[in-house]
Amino acid sequence: MTNSALPTQQDLHKLLKTHFGYDGFRPNQQEIIESICNGQDALVIMPTGGGKSMCFQLPALALDGVALVISPLIALMKDQVDALRANGIKAAYYNSTQPPEETQKVLSDLQHNALDLIYVAPESLQLLDPVLSTIKISLIAIDEAHCISSWGHDFRPAYTQLGYLKRRYPETPLVALTATADRSTQDDIAQQLSIPQAKKYISSFDRPNLYLDVRPGQKRNEQILDFLEDHPFESGIIYCLSRKSTENLAAKLKSNGHNAAAYHAGMSAEQRSKVQEDFINDTTPIICATIAFGMGIDKSNVRWVIHYNMPKNLEGYYQEIGRAGRDGLPSHTVLFYSYADTMQLRQFIDGAKNADYQMAKLDRMQQYAEALSCRRKVLINYFGEFLSQDCGNCDICKNAPAYFDGTVLTQKVLSGVARMQQKEAMGTVIDVLRGSQNAQVYDKGYQNIKTYGAAKDVSWRDLQQYVIQMINQGLLEIRFRESGRLLLTPLSKEVLYDGKKIQLAKPSKEKAKPITKERKPKKPKGSLFEKLRELRAELAREANVAAYIVFSDASLKDMEDQEPVTQKQFLDIQGVGQAKMEKYGADFLKLIKEHLKKPKPKSGSKTYLETKNLIQQGLSLEEIAETRKLTIGSVYNHLIKLHEEGMEIDFYQFIQPVEVKQVHDAILKVADPDKLKSFYEYFKEEMPYWKIRLALFLKGR
Ligand code: ADP
Ligand code: ZN
Repeated sequence: MTNSALPTQQDLHKLLKTHFGYDGFRPNQQEIIESICNGQDALVIMPTGGGKSMCFQLPALALDGVALVISPLIALMKDQVDALRANGIKAAYYNSTQPPEETQKVLSDLQHNALDLIYVAPESLQLLDPVLSTIKISLIAIDEAHCISSWGHDFRPAYTQLGYLKRRYPETPLVALTATADRSTQDDIAQQLSIPQAKKYISSFDRPNLYLDVRPGQKRNEQILDFLEDHPFESGIIYCLSRKSTENLAAKLKSNGHNAAAYHAGMSAEQRSKVQEDFINDTTPIICATIAFGMGIDKSNVRWVIHYNMPKNLEGYYQEIGRAGRDGLPSHTVLFYSYADTMQLRQFIDGAKNADYQMAKLDRMQQYAEALSCRRKVLINYFGEFLSQDCGNCDICKNAPAYFDGTVLTQKVLSGVARMQQKEAMGTVIDVLRGSQNAQVYDKGYQNIKTYGAAKDVSWRDLQQYVIQMINQGLLEIRFRESGRLLLTPLSKEVLYDGKKIQLAKPSKEKAKPITKERKPKKPKGSLFEKLRELRAELAREANVAAYIVFSDASLKDMEDQEPVTQKQFLDIQGVGQAKMEKYGADFLKLIKEHLKKPKPKSGSKTYLETKNLIQQGLSLEEIAETRKLTIGSVYNHLIKLHEEGMEIDFYQFIQPVEVKQVHDAILKVADPDKLKSFYEYFKEEMPYWKIRLALFLKGR
């Protein structure tokens, strides 16, 4: 922009729509963007996938001059620049890997004011200095700013020199961005960058689109195979502890027909970058990896992350699951948990220097895995935030355990522990309570104590679960360094002597089975989404960019839901700005139109008749769509056609009167009642498009 007046809110929204194809800002984005445009410094802490880049990319378009973006990872830099260019934005990068003719071009573009953004690695910044001092810099953005702090986990020495930037360009707004920084790291960043006055913008760390699932660690391979069957074509990462297990698992998946590869530090750099590239391009959708994998990968459509073993702490766990669902779409995370795993981790830690510190972190991790109430609350709470309501998107919320009065059972266990002089570990305590006749019990004479066999009606596994719950409720203490013996606590005395009541959760039978099959209807083969994905892959190959640079999964999903057939409708799709409309609009519209013409094999009237039959049988539209392998949108169109042809249809077979009312009431409240999408967003994406259409249709009658 050449106009140097401050951009208005409208200007910003317009830029967001035409360049990025988005209708609104994510939390905190607008405030940050406005403050940068006002010339203020900012420190932005936002979780992965929160939309940090937009915070400097949009001001870069709104302000005069070129935005200087410091970014530590060359691979990331290239992806970001590719993505910007795909949106028709003038961006380039400058680093040590480029051939001279390329750097020459970048320098000359800079001098001629032909760039909106320039990405630079901190190590290369000095080489740019002579040019930078002759041109106007609109803003300076320091991405992954935690790299400046030697306390952080990926400290980069070159970052510590960045403090001179603010001194050299005192009038230029400087924004530092990171996803991970505790209070002291935040202060360190602000101080080292010489922006002590910078306003801090700290976003919630919650990632509501991640489904949190913890499953018992039995038969993991089978559970994973079942899981993959329920998630065909999706991209995901399975984290394993050892190199060996990444290879074994990848081989197992491959022999079952899945396209998977292993990734670990023992492979050559070449092999690793090949695996990484194939993953980014969706060529190999599934990676079995040690934790090193995923750092610095900006792949937005990772749909799931599985932990084959429990991580050592919640920080690591959260960072790893955070690699799923950067595009904001629902994504699934699974943690396999077994008590034996935790014992093994404890043994690892035991000899370590800061063992106590690590044990405390492991305790919190274990509490999370064994939580009996909303997992997200436990997790978010750990990171210092408070969630006032259960999340509704974790396995506990979806499948709440049943509680019972476990006071008597607890008393039996506690008194057993007391009578065994607090000397025994969980296994023996359980054996004694169940009246086991094994030699170890007999040798110690435990068959003579009063609680011997007191819980013989409870299965071994269930009793183990209950004892773990008692430990977690603070009723027993476990001494890991003394062979795991169990001790009473002050709280246990309240139960034994003061009649304190204890609630225990029934171990869910269903969960102990290999898997709970999700009843989510699968995307049928040949679904519109599948076709869109294929087209995207083809266009990406042609342009030699990663698939998500063409369109994100979120955009494809929006196309599937809205089925746009005109250019105007296409521009309404999330992530479709002017440049992508021009580049890809025709191809995608053609495909969607062809798809809508479909069910060709059968004659038109017959396919209607089939839908008609199914309607008369009382099936829901979802069921009809699934049976007929059609999109719900198409079935809905049949419904309306049949109605127009005179068929008696009770529309309330498909929609509740209260839903119709909700839609009608929303007409006055939505941003734009002419757009279905406005309704869709108003209902937090929980009311499907066809229902909105139907409700509006019913109003029109
Ligand atoms: P971060 O750097 O914080 O991990 P990104 O900047 O990569 O996150 O953004 C994550 C995803 O969210 C990207 O696909 C980006 O295009 C998308 N995104 C950013 N801002 C918006 C917005 N206002 N509306 C919709 N999507 C957005
Ligand atoms: Zn929950």
